[in-house]
Amino acid sequence: MPDCIFCRIANGEIPAKVLHRDDHAVAFHDLAPQAPTHVLVIPARHLSGVAEVDEASAALAGHLLVVAANVARDLGLEDSGYRLVVNQGRDGGQSVDHLHVHVLGGREMAWPPG
Ligand code: AMP
Repeated sequence: MPDCIFCRIANGEIPAKVLHRDDHAVAFHDLAPQAPTHVLVIPARHLSGVAEVDEASAALAGHLLVVAANVARDLGLEDSGYRLVVNQGRDGGQSVDHLHVHVLGGREMAWPPG
């Protein structure tokens, strides 16, 4: 998707602070962190959001969780804990229409979320 900012990060056209890259996923620091640690994990190929995940992309969606957990571990968050967030659509607060998992940590998270 030529106009998708996360596709352009995935293919290296736009720079990002990349923590992990493999054939299927990229993890990079969020530009506007909402916690001391705020990382985004995205699929390398375009999926507009979690609503587009189906049986054919289920393994890819699972891989995003594996990468998220590995990144959190590498960043030393495993003992203190962290939160994974996937915003979907307008009410979910999604602003970039390319599936992404937020990894938030380094402070205690409130519940319920705003
Ligand atoms: P969401 O609101 O769930 O769609 O999250 C989109 C996230 O992408 C926000 O937290 C933004 O700060 C982040 N973001 C947007 N553009 C960039 C970028 N070029 N590099 C890193 N993070 C970005």
